[in-house]
Parts: sequence; C-alpha cells; structure tokens
Amino acid sequence: MSRALSALLLFAAANCQADPPAPPAPIVITDVTVLPMTPDSVPLARATVTLENGRIASITAGTPAKLPAGARRIDGRGKWLMPGFTDMHMHLENDRMGRLHVGDPTLPDGTFDLADALTPYLANGVLQIFNLSSMSETIGQRVEVESGRVLGPHIATAAMIDGSPPMWPLGMTRAAATPEDGRQAVRDAKAEGYEFIKVYSKLTLETFIAIVDEARQQHMRVVGHIPQRGQGITERFFIPGFDLVAHAEEFAQHTDPPDYAAIPRYVEMARRNGTWLVATLSLDERIVEEIRAPDSLRRRGELRYMHPRAYDMVINGNPYTKDRSDGRIRYVQAVVDFNCPLVKAFTAAGIPVLTGTDAPVPGVAPGFALHDEFEALAKCGMSNAQILESTTRRAAEWLGTLPDRGTVEAGKRADLVILDADPLENISNTRRITAVIAGGHYLARADLDRKLARLAARNPR
Ligand SMILES: [Zn+2]
Repeated sequence: MSRALSALLLFAAANCQADPPAPPAPIVITDVTVLPMTPDSVPLARATVTLENGRIASITAGTPAKLPAGARRIDGRGKWLMPGFTDMHMHLENDRMGRLHVGDPTLPDGTFDLADALTPYLANGVLQIFNLSSMSETIGQRVEVESGRVLGPHIATAAMIDGSPPMWPLGMTRAAATPEDGRQAVRDAKAEGYEFIKVYSKLTLETFIAIVDEARQQHMRVVGHIPQRGQGITERFFIPGFDLVAHAEEFAQHTDPPDYAAIPRYVEMARRNGTWLVATLSLDERIVEEIRAPDSLRRRGELRYMHPRAYDMVINGNPYTKDRSDGRIRYVQAVVDFNCPLVKAFTAAGIPVLTGTDAPVPGVAPGFALHDEFEALAKCGMSNAQILESTTRRAAEWLGTLPDRGTVEAGKRADLVILDADPLENISNTRRITAVIAGGHYLARADLDRKLARLAARNPR
C-alpha cells in the first residue's frame, strides 16, 4: 500500500468513527458464591470479585478492605456468579437473510435491528453465540458488538458450504459442486473474514473431504451436518478437521429408522476423530410438539420477543407444520427418542456435548431456548456440572476463545451471570438470572425485563 493511501485510510478511520463507548465503571461483587468453571473447580463461597475495564481484576476470599475508586458495590449474598452461557448453534437474522428466507425482496433495509435481535440472548445470560449461517452482514454485526457500539453476546461466524444445488438460498449458503469449488469456497470465506466453516447435507464425500482439508490448511475449524444421509457411508465423513457435529439428529437421520445398534460405532468414530457434538435436543422436541399441536406456538410466550416479521412466520408461515401426517409425527418422534441414548453414549465416552438451540427455527425462541436445552440434556443423563462446563469453558475451548473468556478467572473478560439459586443443584436455576454482566456492563433484572417488554410490545397479544 502506498504511504499516501495508508495515511488517507488512517485519516478516514479517525474521522468517521463514532465516539467510543465509555468503559464500564468498576464493580465489586461481595459475598457471592463463584462457580469458576475451570477444570475440577469447586464453588468458592463468600468471595469478592472485582471487575475493572470490562475484565475480572481479582477474585478474593472475604470482604475487601477498600473498594477501587468509583466502584459500584453489588451485594452477592445468597447468589451465584458464573461465566455467561454459550449457544453453539443459532442463526442471526439480518435484512438480506430476511429477504432470502421469507422470499420477500421488498423487505426494507433496517427491518431487523441488531440490538433487538441480541436482547433475548443478553436477557438469558447467553453471552456467546455461534452463527452457523453467517453472511457478510454477520461480520459487520460482529464488529458492532466487539467495538462496544452494540451491547450483546460475542458472535462467532461460520460460513455455510452446501452441495449444488444447495438447500438454502445462495447468499445464506455457498454451493460447491466439485472439490475445487469447495476449496475455493473455503479460501473465499477465509479472505472475507469468517472464522469457521459449516458443512451441509448435500455435499458429496469428495467435496466434503476437499473442504475439510482446505479448512485445515487455512486454520479454520469445521462444524456441520453429516452429508449424504441413507448412503451407508457415515463413517467416511469422520476425517481429521471435521471438529463438531451440529445436531444429535444428524446421527438419527443417517438411517431410516434411526439405528440404535450403530450408537457405539458413532461414538467411536467421533472419539477417534476428536469430533464434538452440539445436541440441539430441544429443537427436535419443539418440532414434534408443534407438528402435533400447532397451537402450542401461540402459548409459547417467549416467542413474542422475536421481530414481528419473524414471529408472524412462526405462527402463520411455519414450514414444519405443513406436513402433520402420522408418518411425519412418528418419524420426528423417533429422532427425539434416539437423541437421548446417543447423548448418553457420547457423554459416557467423555466426548463433550455442547449446548446449542438452532434458534430461530420455528418454536425455538432465541435466548430462552438455551435453558430448555440445558433441561433436555439433564434428562438425557448429563450432570448439571457437565452441562454448565459445556456451555462455558468447553464452548470457549472449541471456539478458541478460552484465553479471553469462558471461566471466572482474573484477567478474563467480565462476561458473567448472577443467579438467585444454585445451578449445580438444579439446572433450571440457570433461568433465575438476577443480573447479567456483559463486558463489565451491569444489567440488573429490571433492566433486562424493560428491554424484553419493549420487544414484546411489537407483537400482537
Ligand atoms: Zn441450524
């Protein structure tokens, strides 16, 4: 780059930038029980946690002699402090995705507001999300959050690559008909700033192998579906670099009906390959529930925090409730039934099962659904400690963000949740959020409720 051009860009950057948001004031939380979520950690009772400049400055036993200047003191008596939660499988809306998804090219710019879309996550203590159909807009959304201009969860970005023709509209996905297409799609995604690759159902084995190999060369981890259902070649997709299966149902759907006898083999292929699993158990539970009783969607109050266009699609244009035949219900129920023993077997083998929702698939409410997922995982044999580790440290480990967040340790980012009850005792207590701290910004329950009420007011009663 010429020196004149660099100078110009620097000048432009300096002049175009909005005022950087003010750093959050120091916070001292006293008398709180800390769940550090470091390996083999035990709860630290009556601790004092000091937050400064958006990070955890210290964690000490007992009450501090003096507070940092200008610090806000939070009484943590009878409360639990832990890292924010992670949704490892979700989709974040933007205007272009809305146009592609709804098939309405007239949807105006500015329809979907980023802060509004992120509020239900924030309000539910979800401070890291993984968008598995990231678009160029997502990169911009990520910048808004990381720069502090929009308060919300960190956004990790995966670019989706499907076979040709793809299942989703181009723009939401890329299509690769050949191994060379696949390699180019990975190189493009890398150059455009995506962090991860999402592989999808229609890829051929050859193209899948090329994508995973190219992603390894580009130092990008791969998450996704197991393509080519029903072909009897499940095992051949488990190659080094395929790091995360995006649903438990991927295994269920590889045969029809799901093959219980194959579970030990599925576990072994994942274990040997170092492939982790995002279960999305509650996704399939919601789908079977809404096929059986579409009215259940109207009773799900937490869907009202979605954008009115998205809410309308859930209620009036839901593709999942089109086929309500007995055969369809039986099939989805068979998937739900299979998921549980699969998750049990993965957990027993020591393979991390991460927490994800696939929101905003109809019925799966952004933010709220993660707590449904915790409960579903508990019912399928994961201990409360395992679930909490999955949604904090383990997720950060997979995403490569562990040096920055995912545990309560000095130096880590102050992305924290304060609960009214012990989540180790009852996993449903993750819902009892008394405050959320995002990058050191303190949001009390009342603040979160006010934000949610404003969103709900946009939808019909
Ligand atoms: Zn998904």
